[in-house]
Formats: sequence, C-alpha cells, structure tokens
Amino acid sequence: MAKNPKYVYFFGGGKAEGKAAMKNLLGGKGANLAEMTNIGLPVPSGFTMSTEVCTYYYSHGETYPKSLKKEVETALAKVEKVMGARFGDSSNPLLVSVRSGARASMPGMMDTILNLGLNNKTVEGLVKKTNNERFVYDSYRRFVQMYGDVVLGLKPVHKDDIDPFEAIIEQKKKELGIHLDTQLTAGDLKDLVVRFKTAVKERTGKDFPENPMDQLWGAVGAVFGSWMNDRAIAYRKLYDIPESWGTAVNVQSMVFGNMGEDSGTGVAFTRDAATGENVFYGEYLMNAQGEDVVAGTRTPLPISKLAEQDPKMYGQLDKIRKVLEKHYRDMMDVEFTIQQGTLYMLQCRVGKRTAFAEIRIAVDMVKEKLISDREALLRVQPDQLNQLLRPIFDLKEKDGAVKGGRLLAKGLNAGPGAAAGRLVFNALDAEAWAKRGEKVILTRIETSPEDIKGMNAAEGILTARGGMTSHAALVARQMGRVCVAGCSTLDIDYSTHTMKVAGKALKEGDWISIDGTTGEVIEGKVNTKPSEVLQVLIDKTLDPKDAPVYQEFDQIMKWADKYRRLKIRTNADQPDQSANAVAFGAEGIGLCRTEHMFFGEGKIGPMREMILADTVDARKKALAKLLPLQRKDFAGIFEVMNGRPVTIRTIDPPLHEFVPHEEKAQRELAGQMGISYEKVKQRVDSLHEFNPMLGFRGCRLGIIYPEITEMQSRAIFEAAAEVKKRGIPVEPEVMIPLVGHVKELQHQAQIVRREAEAVMKEQDVKFPYLVGTMIEIPRGAITADEIGSVAEFFSFGTNDLTQTTLGVSRDDAGRFLLPYVEKEIYPKDPFEVLDRVGVGSVMRIAVEKGRSVRPAIKLGICGEHGGEPSSIEFCHILGLNYVSCSPFRVPIARLAAARAALLNDAPAAKSAKAKKPARRKPARKR
Ligand code: PEP
Ligand code: MG
Repeated sequence: MAKNPKYVYFFGGGKAEGKAAMKNLLGGKGANLAEMTNIGLPVPSGFTMSTEVCTYYYSHGETYPKSLKKEVETALAKVEKVMGARFGDSSNPLLVSVRSGARASMPGMMDTILNLGLNNKTVEGLVKKTNNERFVYDSYRRFVQMYGDVVLGLKPVHKDDIDPFEAIIEQKKKELGIHLDTQLTAGDLKDLVVRFKTAVKERTGKDFPENPMDQLWGAVGAVFGSWMNDRAIAYRKLYDIPESWGTAVNVQSMVFGNMGEDSGTGVAFTRDAATGENVFYGEYLMNAQGEDVVAGTRTPLPISKLAEQDPKMYGQLDKIRKVLEKHYRDMMDVEFTIQQGTLYMLQCRVGKRTAFAEIRIAVDMVKEKLISDREALLRVQPDQLNQLLRPIFDLKEKDGAVKGGRLLAKGLNAGPGAAAGRLVFNALDAEAWAKRGEKVILTRIETSPEDIKGMNAAEGILTARGGMTSHAALVARQMGRVCVAGCSTLDIDYSTHTMKVAGKALKEGDWISIDGTTGEVIEGKVNTKPSEVLQVLIDKTLDPKDAPVYQEFDQIMKWADKYRRLKIRTNADQPDQSANAVAFGAEGIGLCRTEHMFFGEGKIGPMREMILADTVDARKKALAKLLPLQRKDFAGIFEVMNGRPVTIRTIDPPLHEFVPHEEKAQRELAGQMGISYEKVKQRVDSLHEFNPMLGFRGCRLGIIYPEITEMQSRAIFEAAAEVKKRGIPVEPEVMIPLVGHVKELQHQAQIVRREAEAVMKEQDVKFPYLVGTMIEIPRGAITADEIGSVAEFFSFGTNDLTQTTLGVSRDDAGRFLLPYVEKEIYPKDPFEVLDRVGVGSVMRIAVEKGRSVRPAIKLGICGEHGGEPSSIEFCHILGLNYVSCSPFRVPIARLAAARAALLNDAPAAKSAKAKKPARRKPARKR
C-alpha cells in the first residue's frame, strides 16, 4: 500500500523540513520560514500544513486527511521542545499564531489568528511567567476578539457599522471616562474578555472554546475556509491565481512585540518599494503587535529611527537585510518582532513593488551583479511598463493650486503617479460610480481586504491612517493605483459621507487630486501631464540626462532588444502616430488602415462621392480627387519611417460605414453633390447589409471596383517615388485584406504590381516593394499554400481571424463573452488574448503551408493581439518575423518578445554574447 503523503512540515532550532523551492506545497510563507530557518536566521519554531491539505479539505466535504491529526501532534511536540513551553500548559503555556500562506502572496485576503492557546487557565500561567498582567490580558483580549471575528463570525453587519468588538471597547472607555486603549488596566482588559465572550454567545449562540486543541482546529478550519471567502476569490480573479492551488496553514510559536518598551514589531522592505532606491525601508512600532503596524491603526515610525532608538537591534536587522538580498537575489519584504531585546524574523517574501521600483531594482541588481540582464527582463512584467507611461501632474498647475490655498493635506507617497477624481467613502460606491464612468478617489480611514474591488475601480486611494506598508499602500502599489496613505489630518465621517480637512468640509462627489509621488492631497481637479518617459521620447521636452526613470526604462529596452527575435512594428495611419511609434522603438509599420485616412481633412466628401457614384466614370472622377490626398498622407508616413518597411492595406470596411445615415446629413450631402436627396437615400439604403462583417468588404470591394485598388496603389507608389527622390529610402508593402481564395489575391496583386511598375517607369525611379495579404479568414489559412504562391508576406489579422474562427461577432460579443470568461469557457477574452488552441492552430496551418511554398515568406501579426504579451509569446513560438501593435504598446511588445525568447528558446542561447541567437537571420532576401 502506498505510504500516506506527508502533510505537515516542521521548522525550528536551525533546521527545517521544507525550503524555499517548496512554495507550491508549503505556500510562500511556509517555504520562506523554512528557508530562513535553514540559513540560520532567528525564526520562532512552528510547522506548516501543506496546500495539499487544503485541496483535500475541499475535495472531501471540508474534512481532513486521517493522518493529519497525528502529524500535527508530532510537529507540535517538536515545537514545544524547541521553545521549552507546552501548548495548553497552565504554568508554562506555548502560544501560537495560525496563518494562511498561499503559493502567491494574497496580502490580507485570508484569515489570521494570534495568541492562540490562551484560556482562563493558561492566562494565569502566562501572568506568572511574564510577571506582566496587563500585557497578558491585552493578549487575551486580542485573541478573543480575533477568534470571535474570524472563527466564530462576529462581524459588522452593515458597510457603515463599526466592528462589534470595537464598539464594546468604546463603551468600556466611555464608562471609564478615558480615551486611549493604553489607559485600560489589566482589570479592564479582563472585563473586556468577559464581555467579548458574552457577546459571542449572544450573537452566535456559540461558547468560546476553552480547550487549546479545539481552538487550534477551529482556527485551522477558519483559515482553510478563508481560501473561499469573497475577497480571496475576487483577488484570485484579479491576479489569475487558480483556485486549485489552495493555501497552506502555518502554525508558529508566538513572540511578543508588546512586552514593554524593549519590545516592538515592524515590517520592512530591503529596498524602497515605491521608488526602488537601495535603502532599507520600513516601519516599526515599539510595544506593539504585528497587526498594529499593517492594520494602520497606529502610524508607525520609519525604520531609520530604530537606528537611533536601538542601534543594536537596527544593526542586526540591517545585517539580515543584506543576508536576505544576497540569498534571494531580490528585494524582500520582511516582518520582524523584537521580544525583550531579542530579534525574531516572522516572515520574508519577495516584496511587492511599483513598476518604477521593479525596473529600478532590476537594473540596479544587474549593476550590483546580483542578477543577470536576462533575469532582470524576466522580472519586469511587460504590462508594468504601462505605469511608466502614466501621467503625472502638471507641475505649474499643481503649484498654482497649492499657492492658491488648495493643498488640503500631506500624507505618505505610497503609490506613485497622479490622479484626480470624485470623493467616495466606501468600496461599494467606488465600484458603482466607476461602473457609470466616473473617476473616483476611494477615501477611507484605512482600507481592509474587503475593499479590494473598490480599490481596483478607483483612480486613486487616500487613507487617513496607516503607513507605507499598510494594506492600502501595499495593494495600491501592486495594482498600480495612485495612493496617498496615512494622511492623519483627514477627519472622515462614513455615516454622512463627508470629511473635514484643513478647515474645509468636503462631501461625496467633490473633486480632489492626489499626488502619490509626493503625498499631496489637493482640493479640486488638477490636470495631469505626460510621464517622464513620454516627455523624453514623445514631447522631447526633457533631456534624458535629467530623467532617471527614463534611463532605467531605456536600459530595460536595450536588454530586451538584445534577446528578442521578433521585430516590433506598429499599427499607425498618420505621420505623428508613426513618429511616436518610432520613438518607442517601432521597426516598421505593420498595418496602415487606409480607410482611417478617409476621415481626415477634406477627404470624406470625395470618398462619399465615390461610394455613391453609379457609373464607373463618376467613381473615377471622385477617386481622382482622393488620389493626391492619399498620396500626401503616404508620403508623410514614408518620410517619418525613413526606410523602415511600411505595410499599407487597401480599403477594408463595408462602404456603409462612410456614408451618413440621418436625413439631415443626407440632404446636406445631396446638396454638395448636386443630386437629389432621394437618390442619396436610395443609394445609402442599397448599401444596407444584414451581416456587413461577412459582406461587401475587404478585397471584395477592390474586386468589384478595381479602380479603388488602382487609385490606392498609385497613391502609395507615387508617394514612395516622391520620397525616394528626396533621398529618403522607402519600403512599401501593399496588403490585400480578407483574402480567402487565391484568385482574389491574384486579381488584386496584378493591379498593384501593374501600378508599381507604371509609376516607377513614369517617374524613372526604383524602389523595392512587396505585395502580400492578410490571413484573417479560415479559408485563407487553410489554403495558405495556394495563397503563398502569390503573396510575398502574410499578416495575421487576428481580430477577424478570431471572429471568423470562433463564429463570434467582434462587435457583439461583449454581452456574452464576459460571462463566458467568468464561466471559464474561454480562459480570457479571445479578442484580447489569442486563443492559442483554436485560432492559434489555424495560424499554425497557415505558417506551415505558407512556408512550404515560399520558405522565406515574411510573417507577421497586426490584429490587436500583436500588443498583448501572451499572444506575442505565441507568435514567437510560431516563428513569426514580427508583431505589430499600437504605438504606446511598442515598449510592452519589445519586452514581451524578449521574455518569450528567454522563456522558450533552447538554453543553447544562454551565452547571448558568445552566440547570437537565430534572431539575426534575415527575414527574407529581396
Ligand atoms: C484584423 O482583423 O485583425 C485586422 C487587423 O483588421 P481590422 O481590425 O481592421 O479588421
Ligand atoms: Mg480585419
């Protein structure tokens, strides 16, 4: 018979059964407690119940494996031995904490219980042992409160209610005529314990458990149960954490930071989590328990103060900081407790950080030789680059607001960036307002894990209490939200949805602006301006020398370019868009949608004339007016692209999109064209289609009206000739859309080539050009060998290819696709993240068949997926030559392409310097 799996892993006394690499089994917290124990750091002894217990628990009707009880007892005995105390012992009791710990950190989403093991007997033992009655009863009070809330379910009922235990404390203080918790005596705290227990009994009908073993199993059940609470589920959805992972449970000996002024507790980052600066960054409170620091109920002191207050402790901590960074080669987030002059490490994990910090730390750590440039690239998520492109306040306007007396307060700069929005005071309102399109600043005394959805919906988060490591600060940074925390002068009243600050009264719906980089809170709306990166690259108003964030961004981009094999192009229809894309690193245009140009200055009139014409002659007349306008547009783009390849697509959308549908506009048009309103109306009506996306569009237009393709080709090539003659190299690539049959392409390619040769002859100039097609309907992909015999390149139009492969209208899918994703029918919206299994297989067929007839065929993608990291990875795997995306996604695509290469290419490419990977092989010879 197979041996029972091991479910419980002990750590303590310098040795652990687990290690950091066992994160999947032990959760992040458990694995790192084991690792810290193994590398000799002072960790209070304990044990971890593995994530497999959680999986078992949920697949067996919330029960535990049979062998678990025995394993827990054995581990607990070992802990007792190391700690020299016994669980439930009336003279020398061991107290433990019970905490969750999933594979990926889910800060504050699940439950925790501290001081477990206290009852009416052990409490007396602990008083004798510590000789500190007040401390012991304070611990007991905290335990009953936490256990009552988390395990027995005594919680606020309404969103504006205060916590029932806090209400009892407030009542007690009122009776005593005192204001501070610290004024409560041991006797008062003892009385609070009794009152708490009575409230538990009254409200839940349950007795508070006295037996420590019952307490332990109650707590363990609650923590496993919290894996399925609403906020944990919401968090998992937000961060793509699979439900099947489960959480581990850590049971660990308590150490106390609230045993007097030589005790304390803190949380710290080995570097600044907001900016990434290489400084020890954190907060602590003397005579306090861990929860006090993170809960934001007391504003803690910066860690640098500890160097003055207790240099010995600070020295030890700073040494541990260095040991951890060297060992983990990353910025770590630690929790520590000082119990009567002895330092203990309670947790360490890779620290959450802003995108700014992520990039700075990655770049610095390469310089410090802690990591390689490849590792740096793998650490920065492509989407994080978005944060670097986000707006900041217009300094002049902000200064004006401050000078004008609109500075309301200053808090901690917890989440960088600038945000303006309307005040809301609870998370549900934040969600509801955001849903109806309002920008909101979620303003709370402090946030809690319940607020997660509202925080996500808000532009920014503002809190009155809590430090840089408070819940609000941590979560905001992770989400990339602007956050000002610990702004203690805010006097917030939840019940009236108002707040007072700086002598002013503000109410829900009022505009405020918060600067998460400086901590300033400003009344009213302050406009924002482009980020540092944009100021350097796009506006060119900032010198790179004066832009440290830009320099780091640029370094990451340079490393990315070293490893990526995919080229990055952009989808752009105008010279300014093209110039932006080039500044972001685009190496060509992958899609210029000519129809977008028709809406520009002076073009829509002749375009409509062309559409409404009922003879070839009339159509040619209108096209002749369009020709110089299009030529000018193309010339502008060729000029900016300066020899980089430019793929221009012939007209694609159904013609009805260009004509007016209201009577008034139709009458106006009739006047302009000198024809009757009835004629215009009749012609517009005749363009009506039941299913326009599958109707008269794409190459079908150019086949029925070849003069359109003729005009567009001529405009492209005349522009190319003109620019070339000015000494600027050009590389036009003409792309035919929606091809499903090789004969369609043959028909159009013949026109394009005829025009190209004619223009070159007329103008006596030569330039290279290509004719290719989009692959965006399945027949085109399936017959790609036939089509590839004509096309010199394929560009996957995955918007239409997704639409046609799935049989799902890209314009109507919103209604059911979101629920589809919620029901996990598709893992992600397939119009956003490429459906590798379905659409991806169709692409693969096209790649193989295309290459079978034309081995050097140039392959790219220009659907929206071309800027989405997972889809880019798939394109890399398929071996495409390039991806094309909107200009602002170019940096993301560069990084995503590099990561795809690092993650998927054979390790032979390891010494990138020695051996250049295959990326440099020319896409095609011309
Ligand atoms: C596509 O279908 O993916 C594409 C790029 O073309 P459009 O979005 O213009 O249809
Ligand atoms: Mg398309």
